[in-house]
Formats: sequence, structure tokens, C-alpha cells
Amino acid sequence: MPSQQFKLLIMIGIMFINSLIPNTTSKLMQWLITVILLFTINQNATAEALNAQELRFIKDLFNRIQPATFKNNREYCGYIGYADNGELIATAAHQGQENSCMGQAPAADFDVIASYHTHGAFSVEADAELPSTDDMEADIAEDLDGFIATPGGRLWHIDTIEGIARMVCGRNCVLSDPNFDPEQVDAMQESYNLSELRARDLEPL
Ligand SMILES: [Zn+2]
Repeated sequence: MPSQQFKLLIMIGIMFINSLIPNTTSKLMQWLITVILLFTINQNATAEALNAQELRFIKDLFNRIQPATFKNNREYCGYIGYADNGELIATAAHQGQENSCMGQAPAADFDVIASYHTHGAFSVEADAELPSTDDMEADIAEDLDGFIATPGGRLWHIDTIEGIARMVCGRNCVLSDPNFDPEQVDAMQESYNLSELRARDLEPL
């Protein structure tokens, strides 16, 4: 996965190439090339961070848990990782509280790649369509990526290496709460860093 430093180097390289483009090429064209190249780099980074098999596994896992999280209005949580035989597995979903969940520590022979949790049933009171500041701080403290499924069926990946929470896929990507009302949800970005999440927490619902 390209690091931030690597991306910075690429950016400097692009700027250098841009400076070699004859003056007849408009500045707008130069910026367009830069944006397209940066977009390509970011797409590659996301694809590498989460392979197709893992994404399928995580979606299937959440689709099994979402009905219980809506019915009981409780968060469910656990860990995803690789067993000794190389098989991708998840620990049994632990039922938490309405707004929190502490997973049981996985077995020692379990090669953990991420935590996972759901966000309970839809509520107009909660800004539950994206990770909370607590979610990101807990994953950073644990030095472990996290996956979150929301009442609207969005899937988020907290990438603790990049320090970014990214929406992997949007509305109805996994099962959503039948009572979910999109009208009650504020617009959101496709990614947040920790300070952006903190700023969003301070906004009135
Ligand atoms: Zn959460």
C-alpha cells in the first residue's frame, strides 16, 4: 500500500512533469492531469488495502448480523482474521449496548486483521451512518483496522495506517434497517480523518 510519503513523492513528480509541459498547455489541463493521476493512485491504494475476497467475506458477515442489530437495537462486534490454515474467519458476534460494544479478545492462534461492529437500529437521535470519533480513537489505540456497518447499509473501513475512515460502499451495500429514513440523515463525506470526525460530532443533528 503506498504510504503518504510515497504519494507525496508522486505528487512532486507530477508537479515536475507539469512544469515541463509547454506554456501553450493551459494551467487547467495541467491540474486536470494531476487530479486524474492522484485519483488513480488513491483507487489503487484502496484496492490493495482490501482485497475482493475480504470485502465479500465482510459483506456476508454483516448481512448475517444486521437483522439482529436492527431487531434488538444493540451493536454487535467481533474480530476478522486468518486462522492457522489460512482461512478467513470472524469471531462470533458479541452483543453490546445501544451505542457501544466491547468484543471478546480473539484466540492467540488467530491472525487478526480488523475489528468489526454494527450500529444498531435506525434512530433520528444518532449520527450512525458514519464511524464515531470513539470508533476511530479505539481502533487507533488498538492499532487495528475496523469495519462498520450502518443502519442505512453503508460499509466503512477505518484504516489506521492512513488515519482515514473511508466509505467502502454506500446505501444498501449491506442489509439496511427497513425503518431507515434517508431524509433524516445529514449529507456526509466519503472519507474522514480524526479531526474531521471530531468537527462533525460538534455539529447539531
Ligand atoms: Zn461505531
